Amino acid sequence: MTEISSNIKKFDVEEVRKLFPVLHQKVNGKPLVYFDNAATSQKPIAVIEALKTYYKGYNANIHRGIHTLAEKATKAFEDTRKRLSSFVNSNEVEEIIFTKGTTESINLVASSYGRKFINEDDEIIISGLEHHSNIVPWQLLAEEKGASIKVINVLEDGTLDFDHFKSLLSDRTKLVAVNHASNSLGTINPIKEIIAVAHEVGAKVLIDGAQGTAHLEIDVQELDCDFYALSAHKCYGPTGVGALYGKRELLEAMPPYQGGGEMIKEVSFEKTTFNDIPYKFEAGTPNIGDVVAFKYALDFIDDLGKENIASYEHELYTYAREKALTIPGLRIIGDSSNKVSVLSFVIDGVHPFDIGQMLDASGIAVRTGHHCTQPLMDHFQIEGTIRASFAVYNTKEEIDRMIEALQRVVKFMKA
Ligand code: PMP
Repeated sequence: MTEISSNIKKFDVEEVRKLFPVLHQKVNGKPLVYFDNAATSQKPIAVIEALKTYYKGYNANIHRGIHTLAEKATKAFEDTRKRLSSFVNSNEVEEIIFTKGTTESINLVASSYGRKFINEDDEIIISGLEHHSNIVPWQLLAEEKGASIKVINVLEDGTLDFDHFKSLLSDRTKLVAVNHASNSLGTINPIKEIIAVAHEVGAKVLIDGAQGTAHLEIDVQELDCDFYALSAHKCYGPTGVGALYGKRELLEAMPPYQGGGEMIKEVSFEKTTFNDIPYKFEAGTPNIGDVVAFKYALDFIDDLGKENIASYEHELYTYAREKALTIPGLRIIGDSSNKVSVLSFVIDGVHPFDIGQMLDASGIAVRTGHHCTQPLMDHFQIEGTIRASFAVYNTKEEIDRMIEALQRVVKFMKA
């Protein structure tokens, strides 16, 4: 399987497409165009095969067993941890905790770090660009602890108001939680600068990397971020798996998030001692098969090269943006120059949902609605957008098909 992907030394989109079985089908009688990658990306054959190989060949529970299958499963599971550690360049493998995904990773930090270290009158800073997953856990925590939440303003082009951010920082700020890239608009946030100034007031920083992992370089040591949360399914891996990177000293100071098997050293009815990191945060049987398969998604990304991916996706985005702007009444929401390949737009007088349905009738999958960022939609005073988000297997021909379909929609609606 890795053989297939490692054959792609230089970027050839037709070769890439061959690795994704799901793309080769008709939807509503038309060849599928999949532009819903920010919601979840499709999976290369290597990931699908790895999952099958695991269940057909060596399904067993990990860590506790001494039999051959258990050892094989444990090794494959831990290999993904090593692979992810090098993917994000963590200093130590133990700083990678497996979770269900970004949402659980953020909740883990809010429940564990937050409950221990955030107190009454402390402040948590988030941004106006956040996904509900990076808003609600902090609201729950703030309510419980009597802390408050400050929100960084979003500018007209969908970027963050950095001066406003700096004005919010004080010695009350205990945590800053922002995304690497916005799922709704595609804006790439200046996280290195955000982390540096937050650290000046002693705050810790969590980066919601759900939209960063597949598209942007991640070097947690260079960034000096305290936590980085990610989901496998947004970066060509399986659903139901993700990870939290955390600095060792923070993870060690944090109490367990859930109690159960695996996270303990010794249990008696009088006293329980906890396991070392990362196991302290991995109570119960994890999603072994999907963690094992996740490694093949990371291999796929690295085989192509993040730089090649970023430049190809940028080319797609620029092409789509130019074409989209020729459509009468179309307005791009969040039109900054530094974006991942997300084209979010509205068309005057046409409801996003209707556009989504009409595109689906042409075999084109986009997402419409608030994209789990209702406060951001409120900020732009819109109900939602139409979002076309591109991945490595998309093509300019597919974009042409979407543009033609949109032209038809506008003509039809205005007739
Ligand atoms: N943050 C961002 C920016 C996202 O795009 C998403 C998924 N749409 C999440 C958090 C939540 O990720 P998951 O559902 O995989 O936990």
